[in-house]
Amino acid sequence: MFDKILIANRGEIALRVVRAAREMGIGSVAVHSTADSDAMHVRMADESICIGPPQSSQSYLSLPAIISACEITGAQAIHPGYGFLSENANFVQIVEDHGLTFIGPTAEHIRIMGDKITAKDTMKALGVPCVPGSDGGVPDLATAERIGAEIGYPVIIKATAGGGGKGMKVANSAAEMERAFQTARAEGKSNFGNDEVYIEKYLTTPRHIEIQVFGDGKGKAVHLGERDCSLQRRHQKVFEEAPGPTITAEERARIGKACADAVAKINYIGAGTIEFLYENGEFYFIEMNTRLQVEHPVTEGIFGVDLVREQIRVAAGLPMSFTQDELAINGHAIEVRINAEKLPSFSPCPGKITQYHAPGGLGVRMDSALYDGYSIPPYYDSLIGKLIVHGRDRPEALARLNRALGELIVDGVDTTIPLFRALLAEPDIHSGDYNIHWLEHWLETNLTEG
Ligand code: ADP
Repeated sequence: MFDKILIANRGEIALRVVRAAREMGIGSVAVHSTADSDAMHVRMADESICIGPPQSSQSYLSLPAIISACEITGAQAIHPGYGFLSENANFVQIVEDHGLTFIGPTAEHIRIMGDKITAKDTMKALGVPCVPGSDGGVPDLATAERIGAEIGYPVIIKATAGGGGKGMKVANSAAEMERAFQTARAEGKSNFGNDEVYIEKYLTTPRHIEIQVFGDGKGKAVHLGERDCSLQRRHQKVFEEAPGPTITAEERARIGKACADAVAKINYIGAGTIEFLYENGEFYFIEMNTRLQVEHPVTEGIFGVDLVREQIRVAAGLPMSFTQDELAINGHAIEVRINAEKLPSFSPCPGKITQYHAPGGLGVRMDSALYDGYSIPPYYDSLIGKLIVHGRDRPEALARLNRALGELIVDGVDTTIPLFRALLAEPDIHSGDYNIHWLEHWLETNLTEG
């Protein structure tokens, strides 16, 4: 096992990793920019080191700064958290070239899954069901129009290098194809330096269901059921739960096994998430994330396992500490993302926290790096905390969420807390009757300017 690991991240996820390391008796090194000198992850880690100025490109994304920080502190392994360098194959290669261990999958797997066309081809070949669409890249408009006519409108044109909801355009009819095709290409080019696009059938009322997988890198893998992340704004998740309110045990076992078998076959190591759209009882693969997800705590809640601990174990060459048969679902868990954002525009709202009080009690987990008097810097993403609740069943979890939101105090900046209080008054949230478009429609009618 490692003596010391470095965490190449900040905020709540850096704290999350510090906590797992401490419980395992492993030392932790926090890295930080000059804007984060007073950050909680710096205070909580055993050691810390400043790696550059506020801009991420010169600090949290700086490969030389992070590798040097390992060399100076003697850290043997790097946990990347999510975002930043977590899905950067080039970084993984450099980490390994320096004789360090990357706590995550191999550079090759990150590369395969980072290109959506290659990812889809790979998953199809491994027996995972995919959305009907073009066979690989679509070189020109004429081909795009032919494929549109073949699979039927609406279709979605996606940049193969896309991510974070960028580089995706819907064409509702042949008349909209030209514009959607050119825009997706242009967005792919300008955001990701790659203008290759592909086409998929656009599903009109799907839910977003993702399967948590975990591999030991030696041909063994398990699945930890699904998370339903259908409540999205601009393709970004805001509310996640496990198990999915509409997924049956039989469906879970079937799709879970397909996913676990697929990653076992490629000797995948560590945590991964295989994302699907789910409509009329069918699962359609859309992408795989080769990292720990923001919403991993809901899975931890219902299975009672520590996924970060497990990531560190397999990275150190130890076997997984559970088998598929030992993984049983207990109750229901829900996470809401607390962002420092002003409603209804959702514009970032950095600033000083004048008062912070975290909720507590049975089944309540608050993952946050906030504290009284902390100043949220304007340079990074607006996620400032995750409130996760666990209950014996979904109604209990929802009631607990409402109770915990009532206890949570974040003063000094605007947050998304009022959004969740309002959502919890909606019958559809209680019945679980929503798809990926529900929240956008609800926001249009309920959260208007003024
Ligand atoms: P990104 O990598 O940008 O997150 P994804 O491929 O994961 O992109 O898709 C993000 C979201 O976009 C999905 O959760 C879903 O809401 C929507 N989406 C993607 N593909 C389709 C599709 N074929 N039909 C309908 N919606 C889609």
